Amino acid sequence: MGQDDVRIFDTTLRDGEQAPGFSLRPAEKLQLARQIDALGVDIIEAGFPISSPADAESVRQIATEIRRPVIACLARCHRADLERAAWAIKPAAQGRIHTFIATSDLHLQAKLRMTREQCMEAAIDSVRYARQHTFDVQFSAEDATRSDFDFLCRVIEAVIKAGATTINLPDTVGYSTPDETLDFFRRIRERVPHTESVVFSAHCHDDLGLAVANSLAAVQGGARQVECTTNGIGERAGNAALEEIVMALKIRSDRMPYTTNIETRQIYPTSEMLSQLTGQGVQVNKAVVGRNAFAHEAGIHQDGMLKDRRTYEIMRAEDVGAPWNPLVLGKHSGRHAVQRRCADLGFRIEGEELVEVYRALMTIADDRKVLTDQDIRSTIATLRSEHPATAQHDAIDPFDTPSAAAQHSIHESGYGHGV
Ligand code: MN
Repeated sequence: MGQDDVRIFDTTLRDGEQAPGFSLRPAEKLQLARQIDALGVDIIEAGFPISSPADAESVRQIATEIRRPVIACLARCHRADLERAAWAIKPAAQGRIHTFIATSDLHLQAKLRMTREQCMEAAIDSVRYARQHTFDVQFSAEDATRSDFDFLCRVIEAVIKAGATTINLPDTVGYSTPDETLDFFRRIRERVPHTESVVFSAHCHDDLGLAVANSLAAVQGGARQVECTTNGIGERAGNAALEEIVMALKIRSDRMPYTTNIETRQIYPTSEMLSQLTGQGVQVNKAVVGRNAFAHEAGIHQDGMLKDRRTYEIMRAEDVGAPWNPLVLGKHSGRHAVQRRCADLGFRIEGEELVEVYRALMTIADDRKVLTDQDIRSTIATLRSEHPATAQHDAIDPFDTPSAAAQHSIHESGYGHGV
């Protein structure tokens, strides 16, 4: 990969799947893994084999079937974990063991009840042992962002020497800020010797809603792998959302000149499959994949969209594989959008009739969240039964309307960078 290529490490099936309400059966994990492969991620973290026999089997099944990306799995710095992980990735075309230990004093004292020296020893021993099973070994310093900086640097230096090829520095509890994250990665790369042979990685959590911003800052600080999940699922408030990182890098390549291998048209299908398999929907205003991400109800916005969709959209729904039905009719809608929807339904509504139809629909909309096509049909039918003379206007080809023409020009308008 080139210097400005960012590896996408997808942990939907590990960190995402371990969140409350998101557990999946092995057959479902395999189905999702196939879709994540189609999405073009570089690494799939398929599970945490020691956590259950079913998860170990599931990782092994994915490692057997999914051949293009690297298949990774998680292991604590324990022999039993590492042996199970090595077994699970054995069939992989390219298998990675991802071993981790906390390096912050808080985690060492309160959780692991270990000294810094014991932590250092366990990290080195585990990386060496993992390297006996695969050349691709990732080490994570859990709670890295709250660790003593000098100690963290010594641990990183030691595990690189022991054979780690990727160094992941998680913001395990989502505590960092973007400027701090940029500085953190930059300082570590300056301080630790022999870092040119390894890839640095960010793993950011969203407790303060900063996971994506922190991941992008890490890339600017020299990280060339980001760990993320579809729909941003994961422990607590979740991980950095894959779709947001990828689209931010794509749409704002003027500010962030980094590339990924993601097939962006597979973003929405992946999000949909994940929601269906877990039964957990996406918030409607979620960036990139939410139901409202490309929808407009307000009259001023609808009018702008009808004239040129770039007025209120910075990316195209079709570029992320999402359906594009941008005009939602409700009480905030204007006449232009109502007229367009009527035309789409085959009714030419103009002049005085438009005033009447619009007024009648807005009265209905006051009591509703959204107006349906049936509301429009029945409103027009009712008004026309009161004034039968106007009905003759509809002897038109519904496709030969300003609507269809405008729709076409909207599709033709480009979204090049710098527009
Ligand atoms: Mn995590």
